[in-house]
Amino acid sequence: MEFIDLKTQYRRLEPAIRARIDAVLAHGHFIMGPEVAELESALAASTGARHAITCASGTDALLMPLLAWGIGPGDAVFTTPFTFFATAEVIALVGATPVFVDVDPVTFNISPEGLERAILAVKRRDPSMHPLPRRAVEEGLTPRAVIPVDLFGIAAEYDELLPIAREHGLLVMEDAAQAFGGRYKGIPLCGLPCHAATTSFFPAKPLGCYGDGGAIFTDDDALAATLRSLRVHGKGSDKYENVRVGINGRMDTLQAAIMLPKLEILPEEIAARQRVAAGYGERLAGIPGVTPPTVPAHCLSAWAQYSILYDNRDALAAHLKAGGVPTAIYYPKPLHVQSVFAHLDHAADDMPISASLSRRILSLPMHPYLEESDQDRICQLIAAYRG
Ligand SMILES: *Cc1c(COP(=O)(O)O)cnc(C)c1O
Repeated sequence: MEFIDLKTQYRRLEPAIRARIDAVLAHGHFIMGPEVAELESALAASTGARHAITCASGTDALLMPLLAWGIGPGDAVFTTPFTFFATAEVIALVGATPVFVDVDPVTFNISPEGLERAILAVKRRDPSMHPLPRRAVEEGLTPRAVIPVDLFGIAAEYDELLPIAREHGLLVMEDAAQAFGGRYKGIPLCGLPCHAATTSFFPAKPLGCYGDGGAIFTDDDALAATLRSLRVHGKGSDKYENVRVGINGRMDTLQAAIMLPKLEILPEEIAARQRVAAGYGERLAGIPGVTPPTVPAHCLSAWAQYSILYDNRDALAAHLKAGGVPTAIYYPKPLHVQSVFAHLDHAADDMPISASLSRRILSLPMHPYLEESDQDRICQLIAAYRG
């Protein structure tokens, strides 16, 4: 049994993917070939965003809007400590300070009330309102942006987050690396009225390529133009005129070509993921000590992960492994206590919900092709476990 099975999808799409790869090998435009523009149009159409700008990874997708907005030293960027490292890494990479806001205990996404308190605490330099990084108290920081993460495929609470951000003049960048294909109140993720949204096409994400890749979505024409420049070394009207400092952040033509057939079947795969998640829900209901995930009624999860909570998590994971079932822990250590952020001066219980989740979370095998017989086995092992 595989934790995420990529081979079944490949067997299904093999002729289409191979034909696309062959076409690229024949035309030879390996950098910014026609498949890149074709994919960008298809991505924009599938989300409703005006612009989709592909790039080299989900991390570059997060980095480039921060560069475009000139976010840097002295700026505060708010995000969750219960996410993949890249979300906060890009904030530090541009020289800004991550201000962590604890998560909602049900959705595991950034708490809107927590965000509001954190913004006020930064403005007032008052750590009694919200646990602040040392620099926010000693030198003061300017609140500039918030990066909500749609963790495991479930959208953050945008109808509450966006008005708070608007009131305080913050830019909003949705990190939908785990949620492409999901919806919030019927709207496709990456098509919400955020200033920018990003996703990752890392192979294991709900929509993956066969290497690294990512994309940025925005309705803002000026931002889109700056992002297209940033991803090619800050080019101006041509490649050898440089008007800003950028990066080499392009997506390979081959990866774009591989993704085109995958994007076509994404809606079907998202539907299959709902069936798998429902199958887990039925089988896990009533097993003592197991808390299955809860999706708010107004969200359609992309189900990047199916994560349960269990107090004796490590022992359960070992029991499943012994029974041939792979599991994963996202995330064993919240970001506010990572050693690279020691200078922020946080204690683990500054973000108590994230700290607790990191000890109890366990992700079970999840992909659109998971068989019912495998789900039976996984859930029988969990039900039989006494520990
Ligand atoms: C995977 C992921 C990223 C980074 O994407 P890469 O393509 O691996 O660079 C960023 N944020 C979140 C929440 C992720 O899950």
